[in-house]
Amino acid sequence: MAEIGQDIAKAKAFLEKGELVGIPTETVYGLGGNALNPDAVAKIFATKNRPEFDPLIIHTSSIERVLEFAVEIPEVLRLLGEKFWPGPLTLLLPKKNILPDLVTSGLDTVAVRIPGHALSRELLSGLDFPLAAPSANPFGYISPTKASHVNDQLGDKIPYILDGGTCEVGLESTIVGVERDKVVVYRLGGLDVKEIEDVVGDVRVMTHSSSNPKSPGMLKNHYAPTKPFVLGNLKTLIKEYQLKGVTFAVLSFRDVFKTVPIGQQIQLSPSANLNEAAKNLFAAMRALDTMDVSVILSELLPEQGLGRAVNDRLRRASAN
Ligand code: AMP
Ligand code: MG
Repeated sequence: MAEIGQDIAKAKAFLEKGELVGIPTETVYGLGGNALNPDAVAKIFATKNRPEFDPLIIHTSSIERVLEFAVEIPEVLRLLGEKFWPGPLTLLLPKKNILPDLVTSGLDTVAVRIPGHALSRELLSGLDFPLAAPSANPFGYISPTKASHVNDQLGDKIPYILDGGTCEVGLESTIVGVERDKVVVYRLGGLDVKEIEDVVGDVRVMTHSSSNPKSPGMLKNHYAPTKPFVLGNLKTLIKEYQLKGVTFAVLSFRDVFKTVPIGQQIQLSPSANLNEAAKNLFAAMRALDTMDVSVILSELLPEQGLGRAVNDRLRRASAN
């Protein structure tokens, strides 16, 4: 198992040697490695079992430093960066050749973020290279929102996890780029699209996958627990599965179901708060996945605010 602690100097020393470190951010935990070191980058793909067509997000500590590895920041995207960084926003920018091709899966754009978590900010400010850091989970599985989640799944493959507590936002970053002067959202995430529109006007949301998606990692069946995950009207589903005699657990937005044992149901937010639901989502999915049942039953949240991004993850989880 990995060592878990809050020693930034130790994390830095591992990263400088080309090793990988689990790092906390406000979205989810990342699997960080030196983005300029092709061996470290290759190790990230191998450790996650991530296909090489799925490019990594590069993390740094300031807008000025973004230009170490991006050619420029188009004006509309700079507005967004200035407003929401540090925060759960990733921008797609033209890449410089200093980045190994593997980082961007051969694309000529690079995904960039300045994360908001105090520990990772301090770490990034003290490094003289940016970090490539995809979510610290095996490819296709649920993203980690606590240090122990990282340790459970990747602990035998990395030396150190920087423990920053539970991730405040709990969903991956919102990915934004620009195409022919139009701002495009490629992945719904921890920054509400509405907030982006308040700054730059209407945006296009293009988060669907195909065999050749523009945002390549957006496969339909992502973020998936290992158990079948069924979405629908919970009252109806519960009756149906009780009749069928199939064991199940329930993931609801706020409702408690009297006919289901308390230990087999989780409410994402008893007060029906969408941000709280987002923060709890991935830990809840993990907990449900370890329960002694055959199926997970769940429902969509209101399609507003972070509810849109949560619903995106729920739909992907149910697409297997
Ligand atoms: P994560 O596992 O959260 O780090 O996800 C990274 C995701 O960012 C990838 O799966 C892609 O969908 C997206 N991404 C990264 N780099 C690019 C890029 N250059 N162009 C488009 N999408 C990108
Ligand atoms: Mg991921």
